[in-house]
Amino acid sequence: MKVFSKGGANSSKTSKKIQEEINKEVDEKVNVLRTISFVTTKVLSVSLFIIFIQSFLYVKSYLAKDGYDNVYITKGFRSFDAEQERLGQTSLLPLKKSEQTKYVDTRSWKLNTFELTYCTTGLAQVFLHFIFCVTVVLFDYVLFYILNLVRIHGSLELGIRSNGTITIVVHGNGPVADFYRVIFQGLDNNEGFSSNLHFSRCLPSPNIPYALNIPVFLALYLVAIGVVCLRGYGMRLRRKISAYYYPEQENARIAFLHKTIQNSRAGVQRFLRQHVRSTHKECTIKDQLRFSKWLRSKCQCLEKVLPNRNQRKCMSCGQTDTESGSSLKNCTEEKAGETCKAMYCVDCNAALAGVCPLCCDNDVALKE
Ligand SMILES: [Zn+2]
Ligand SMILES: [Zn+2]
Repeated sequence: MKVFSKGGANSSKTSKKIQEEINKEVDEKVNVLRTISFVTTKVLSVSLFIIFIQSFLYVKSYLAKDGYDNVYITKGFRSFDAEQERLGQTSLLPLKKSEQTKYVDTRSWKLNTFELTYCTTGLAQVFLHFIFCVTVVLFDYVLFYILNLVRIHGSLELGIRSNGTITIVVHGNGPVADFYRVIFQGLDNNEGFSSNLHFSRCLPSPNIPYALNIPVFLALYLVAIGVVCLRGYGMRLRRKISAYYYPEQENARIAFLHKTIQNSRAGVQRFLRQHVRSTHKECTIKDQLRFSKWLRSKCQCLEKVLPNRNQRKCMSCGQTDTESGSSLKNCTEEKAGETCKAMYCVDCNAALAGVCPLCCDNDVALKE
């Protein structure tokens, strides 16, 4: 159909051409969506490939390095420790407070600090994704609202009516002129022209977004949060699976971990002994040079007025009885006719293996 009017108003585009243009535009948009979908599919397959690579790298490091991801106090470790104890070595279990944050007891359901760090990172990623999803859903609803408004207010009917008159007048005289006059007689045209344009067919008919998708999304996000929270346990499982397939390597790793903890304790012990000695030296010198002590020695009546600085304190960490939560243990060894006045809290006493560094100078005597 060609849209035209005799009244002078004309349209330069045919409806077919308009349709072609609309199709072309829609095709362009669909192509963009197709490209996005294509890229997403590829990215998903790449992420699967990345998981595969990560697993491979983990197994490789697990086999190659005894210290890699070797922080788990497993059933195997406990039996190894018991075996060592039977052979006359010091048992490393239970772990000390400072070690409990560093190593993971697989019997405990509680996640360790660094395991929780992984969970926090994962939760942040899920949260960002959730915000993205909310934006997309909102955009969907806003788009529906706008298109709906266009549909309601854009419904327009256009009626074009026009009247045209064609009168053929043959001028001249003679038989030919008379002949034409006879022919065109009655061809005078006096017809109306009317055309109606309905825009409703071109208007969008948006579908309301599928509301049931929202609970599905929420359920999926809850699952994702659950998976992220279980990531810490997943990491434990990763080691367990590797241990199942490589039991010999697992035994070597257990022995390595045992030795590592032992060495680090000996290192800590050495450091503590040095620290206690230097603290003791500092206290002794400060005490000798204290002004209040001099005043006390000069005047006995000031004894009650001056503050008493000789509080019961752990020689190593400086905690008092109340701070440590248990009474401090006094060292009662005698050295050169004098009784040692050093005192230690339970933790420091255990860390020093019950040996007072001020009374026993011999570091070689430390059990390793
Ligand atoms: Zn202490
Ligand atoms: Zn002592």
